[in-house]
Amino acid sequence: MANNAYAQLRGLHRQAGTLGSLGSLLGWDQETYMPHGGAAFRSEQQGMIAAMAHEKRTSKQVGDLIAECEGDKALLSDPAVAANIREMRRDYDLATKLPGELVAEIARTTSLAQEAWKLAREKDDFGAFSPWLEKVLGLMRTKAGLYGGGGELYDALLDEYEPGMTGAEIGGIFTPLQGRLSGFVAELVGSKHQPVDVLAGMDVPNERQHAFGLEVLRGIGFDLGTGRLDTTTHPFCSGIGPGDTRLTTRYGTTSCLEPLSSTMHEAGHGLYEQGLPKGEHFGEPLGDAVSLGVHESQSRMWENFVGRSRVFWGWALPVAKRHFGPVFDGATVEGVYGAVNRVQRSFIRVEADEATYNLHVMLRFGLERDLVSGALAVKDLPGEWDKRFKVLFGLEVPDNRRGCLQDVHWSCGLIGYFPTYTLGNLYAGQFWEQIHKDLPGLEGEIARGEFSSLLGWLRGKVHAHGRRYRAGELCRLVTGRPLTPEPFMRYLEGKLRPMYKI
Ligand code: ZN
Repeated sequence: MANNAYAQLRGLHRQAGTLGSLGSLLGWDQETYMPHGGAAFRSEQQGMIAAMAHEKRTSKQVGDLIAECEGDKALLSDPAVAANIREMRRDYDLATKLPGELVAEIARTTSLAQEAWKLAREKDDFGAFSPWLEKVLGLMRTKAGLYGGGGELYDALLDEYEPGMTGAEIGGIFTPLQGRLSGFVAELVGSKHQPVDVLAGMDVPNERQHAFGLEVLRGIGFDLGTGRLDTTTHPFCSGIGPGDTRLTTRYGTTSCLEPLSSTMHEAGHGLYEQGLPKGEHFGEPLGDAVSLGVHESQSRMWENFVGRSRVFWGWALPVAKRHFGPVFDGATVEGVYGAVNRVQRSFIRVEADEATYNLHVMLRFGLERDLVSGALAVKDLPGEWDKRFKVLFGLEVPDNRRGCLQDVHWSCGLIGYFPTYTLGNLYAGQFWEQIHKDLPGLEGEIARGEFSSLLGWLRGKVHAHGRRYRAGELCRLVTGRPLTPEPFMRYLEGKLRPMYKI
């Protein structure tokens, strides 16, 4: 009987997942092709789909079926099934704490807030965005209160993205790491040996950058038959469903290789989405990513550990030359390797180098935690951002576009999301060390443009499991140790100290 219950439960999850995927598709369209005039109606569409998906996820039938499966010892003797049911229970208990009207209200409000953020950022007008941020924060506080959990409100939000993590735990990792990174960055920017920006002033038309990006995507194993690449203001990846993983990137930024970094970053997310067992488990925890931190470990690994390595450029430079034409004739592997690894204190997180990037994340983590607790008022955000930025980076923020209006996250209600970027770097560092132990020939393979054993490792060790293991458990299983910042720091120092001769 219970096997029948389990089959029914899986069917209902697939239905809820399918409704959710319609919301993702609407979101993708909003960020790529929808005209601005469609914003109001889009928010209605999003609200309706979110409410329908929520109703599916929280139906009494789902609750009864989970309870029936939990009582079946024979069924639970399969560890993968047991994990699937454990995570279904977690999702159900969380979802049933939220009334459908609140879920729809969040979907409608964040859809409109995103449009307001776009305009406010364009016009550098924080005043136009602040009422929206107030609304979104209010909704997030209500949601966190309903989730409960006993800790600070922020923990309940964070738990959605990084199950089991708390603000205090993250603070415990970030505070000492911030000190180490700040000291290291000071050494790097103070060095007499600065890599030259050989890419400065190189102008490459967008179509050529796009074609180059597509060839790299194919090279690293992203399947364009089940995925695509479009352009947007704020690059993202959306795993819509089985056979449909969409990446976006942007052109016309600071350097002609910056778009490739964005593309490879999103491709890292996309490879994870394509590697999840969605064919069999779409909509179920076993077909879903472990956590955003682990998701980000995949994107940061392809973007940086691979895409900013010397060996990668051994393969990618001739490919770039073929696409970019004469402007790239004089480029050398050493030149490009130095240029893409320049460390600079700068304003924009998404353009930051690997050494300063985590400081940008730490700034946002501290601010959003204070916004949620109420220690910081929305009206004081720009001033507080600028003040803390000055302490961390030693720079005066010239305007809010390059300050607190630069990121889309808060307008989308993604609060508690930022720290997962740094956790992702730390997971990536720890995985990367293990990968090199397991695949001693990897550097040579990358230099030849062979990525299949790296991708195979990630598929087998990370992607294939879905949410079978929690992030911390997966990390111990794959690397034999709990997460620490040491491997990441070893990687970063091992790469940058010789380059800067410090
Ligand atoms: Zn990412």
